[in-house]
Amino acid sequence: MKAAVYEGPRKVSVKDVPDARIEHPCDILVKVTTTNICGSDLHMYEGRTSFEPGRTLGHENLGQVVEVGSAVSKVQVGEYVVLPFNIACGFCKQCERGLTNYCLTMQPEPSLAGAAYGFAEMGPYQGGQAELLRVPYGDFNALRLGEDAAERQLDYVMLADIFPTGYHATEMARVRPGDQTLVMGAGPVGLMAAYSAILKGAGRVWVADHQQDRLRIAEEIGAVAIDTNEADPVEVVKDATLGLGADNGCECVGYQAHDPQGQEDASLTVNQLIDAVRFTGDIGVVGVYLPEDPGGEDAQGELEAQGKLPLDYGLMWFKGQTMGTGQAPVKRYNRALRDLVAGGRAEPGFVVSHELDLDEAPSAYEHFDRREDGWTKVVLHP
Ligand code: NAD
Ligand code: ZN
Repeated sequence: MKAAVYEGPRKVSVKDVPDARIEHPCDILVKVTTTNICGSDLHMYEGRTSFEPGRTLGHENLGQVVEVGSAVSKVQVGEYVVLPFNIACGFCKQCERGLTNYCLTMQPEPSLAGAAYGFAEMGPYQGGQAELLRVPYGDFNALRLGEDAAERQLDYVMLADIFPTGYHATEMARVRPGDQTLVMGAGPVGLMAAYSAILKGAGRVWVADHQQDRLRIAEEIGAVAIDTNEADPVEVVKDATLGLGADNGCECVGYQAHDPQGQEDASLTVNQLIDAVRFTGDIGVVGVYLPEDPGGEDAQGELEAQGKLPLDYGLMWFKGQTMGTGQAPVKRYNRALRDLVAGGRAEPGFVVSHELDLDEAPSAYEHFDRREDGWTKVVLHP
């Protein structure tokens, strides 16, 4: 089968690999019809992780079931399913607590937790930027879609990751109706956090970024854009709230945050949120901070290379804020979010800027990695 394979830093090629197949009675096999490139794929693409050359990328996958293992009883051949990026067993101590993002069974390395398709350090599973995908524990890990699935794939595929992830940021930030919420980052994840806050009835949602094309999309969904080339988001929010600050904040940039001059500063956006969010407000961080980053030439870089950030913890403590972090437990939300989509209340496919054939994956990665104007979210059709 054809697959988008990681070859080394900034090199992806589409080549023939052995067909994915049923390996366990609980597996299902999915013919992938829609698969996204994610900001998280860029951590691997840019060579910032231990992702092994030769592995297939892709953790945001939707497709049609073509085969089920002998122990699968619910999912049926022919159905469209979307696959939460976290792969989980459903029966371990963590899964029983709803923490499928930290499943103990699917992660073979005891010091790590959580598994995903086509991801560094998250188990040996292949990604879905390919014609076929093996899904372990298919009855648990596949979210079944209704009859409109084939026509509305661009909306439903966002349930694999970025819609529940953006929603999770707003849950950790405890966004309630009427709240004033600051979202750092207008990438696909930031746009989904803003969209989720708006769906929850937030009174005002600011989205800060320096990319004009992405800020325009934020405005189209009803958020207030802050261009960080023009203004300091902390000042904008404080000016608009009589100095009090936002009720809550969502961090959707991660360790690749950079200042308007283009210098990387991994702790910039988290510290801006601590400053911009009011006393006893809540912050949800879904942007990724890796414990080990091969970069780091100076003292600051060395600290960041170990995942250690100069965090304004004193201010955060003084303000009595809470901060939630980590991977999103997609399964916790995606059934409800699916039903919002099915009911016509949510159309997260608005983030898609490019629909391309799988063969175009190498150039799609290049454009998306350069954050080129207009390349917001790329969807591939194998
Ligand atoms: P992206 O890289 O496309 O978007 C990041 C955005 O942040 C870009 O638009 C960039 O211009 C902007 N940015 C950079 N520096 C900034 C600054 N100082 N202030 C404001 N904006 C700034 O990526 P994405 O797909 O939107 O993902 C965002 C982050 O979320 C990544 O770290 C990704 O790995 C992570 N993520 C986490 C989860 C999870 O489960 N927690 C799931 C998916 C993605
Ligand atoms: Zn993703």
